Amino acid sequence: MASHPLGSEARPLRVAVVGSGPSAFYAIEALFKAADLSCRVDVFDRLPTPYGLVRGGVAPDHQKIKSVVRVYEKTAAQPGFRFFGNVALGRDVLVDDLTAHYDRIIYGFGNESDRRLGIPGEELAGVHAATAFVGWYNGHPDFQGEQFDLERATRVAVVGNGNVAMDVARLLVRSPDELAETDIADAALDVLRQSKVREVVLLGRRGPAQAAFSPKEIEEVGGLAGVNLVVPPQEIALDELSAQWLEGDAPRSAGRNVSYLRKQSEAGADATTRQVRCRFLVSPVEFVGDGDRVTAVRLQRNELVAGDDGEPRPKAVDSYDEEPVDLVFKAIGYRGDPVPGVPHDARRGIVPNRDGRVLDAPDGSVVPGQYVVGWAKRGPTGLIGTNSPDSKLTVEALLQDIAGVEAEALDAADAERVPALLRSRGVDAVSFADWEALDRHEIEAGRARGKARSKLSSVDEMLAAIREARSAQ
Ligand code: NAP
Repeated sequence: MASHPLGSEARPLRVAVVGSGPSAFYAIEALFKAADLSCRVDVFDRLPTPYGLVRGGVAPDHQKIKSVVRVYEKTAAQPGFRFFGNVALGRDVLVDDLTAHYDRIIYGFGNESDRRLGIPGEELAGVHAATAFVGWYNGHPDFQGEQFDLERATRVAVVGNGNVAMDVARLLVRSPDELAETDIADAALDVLRQSKVREVVLLGRRGPAQAAFSPKEIEEVGGLAGVNLVVPPQEIALDELSAQWLEGDAPRSAGRNVSYLRKQSEAGADATTRQVRCRFLVSPVEFVGDGDRVTAVRLQRNELVAGDDGEPRPKAVDSYDEEPVDLVFKAIGYRGDPVPGVPHDARRGIVPNRDGRVLDAPDGSVVPGQYVVGWAKRGPTGLIGTNSPDSKLTVEALLQDIAGVEAEALDAADAERVPALLRSRGVDAVSFADWEALDRHEIEAGRARGKARSKLSSVDEMLAAIREARSAQ
């Protein structure tokens, strides 16, 4: 067969993208927008639903953020786009299959696990990963078996000072009536309506100036109806290092966070039904239990010392206290698990890479033809929008690598080989049209209940709704 430049009209580039969250969609958009590139993109997701953390992570009371999917829908409407939902890498397709049927692979499967503290008592009942709570209230199929004893808990600790901690704290204290109109999982809303939670204590291991939450997020917690954001005066006092850092290298958000917390501290607390209380410069060292249930978190105080990069870091001092709690949510970050056939950096929980080019090991050699985007590339940092320029950089690397590469022309049956392979393995792959039918189904079901959407939260239910829609066509 004749050969042609890879990515030309005569020989389109075939790309497999694994994962369908924001970073994956921004990479696909960059491919479709690349000048003089002809390409076909097949997207694989282990769930029947696309959009990753936009569906399974973004809080239900942040519906506006979810409207970013309109951009992804435009990308999905491009002629070269196909979606294969309900297809897991390592289970239904292998990396070897992808290398056999595609010219390039882009991994965009995120970080699906949680980080552990590694302290005694972490296995006690009532100590949960925030990631599980987030997945549960968002109707993610992986987390529907989780049980959160909100009916019996009045005091909850949230470990960590990031935006996930903000989401968790807000969902715990926000009025369920305000959540009822969102796309929150129906079962989670029922439990939140029975919740006895009155106080959430936020535990930051560094000071208020180093909190990872965005000003908008802490301000939203402070602005909730019927909720006090309590900042005891001793918690907001800045040490000398932080004061200097704020004047110098600190991000702008740090100054805004400190000013806001100071204002909250001065306002004091009024009588409300629920409160969120901030504690800083404390690290959990043990979860204390009565039998197998958590009853308190033992905290060690920290002071701040300058790290090698000048950033204030926590250093433990010999001072301890306990916060009595009924439940704990650890919101200390996500982490990637190994995916069969894909190199894994166990220390960082990511796919080892250099500028988005996959390496066979951390600091190892480039694996030709394989790329990575999003949290799987850089770890669990950044907002949705952070992924757009970052995915573009990976795509630029990919385009550099195919410059001057020639490939044999494709035969007419090429595009049907992967669907046929999946069928031969008994995999019921979900197309984008199938997803659109499920999307309509959920929105209509939600409308009937006065909600933005009523999510189906098990893969079986989703597939049943999809099959029903197919048979109605
Ligand atoms: P994050 O922003 O990295 O925050 C993690 C928090 O956990 C930090 O306060 C960190 O403290 C603390 N932490 C880490 N290890 C700890 C330990 N061993 N002991 C005590 N505390 C520890 O992570 P995230 O909250 O999971 O969020 C992930 C990303 O998603 C972030 O970029 C976030 O902005 C984004 N996100 C955005 C939104 C939104 O915009 N609404 C919502 C959710 C998530 P140190 O700073 O001291 O390390």
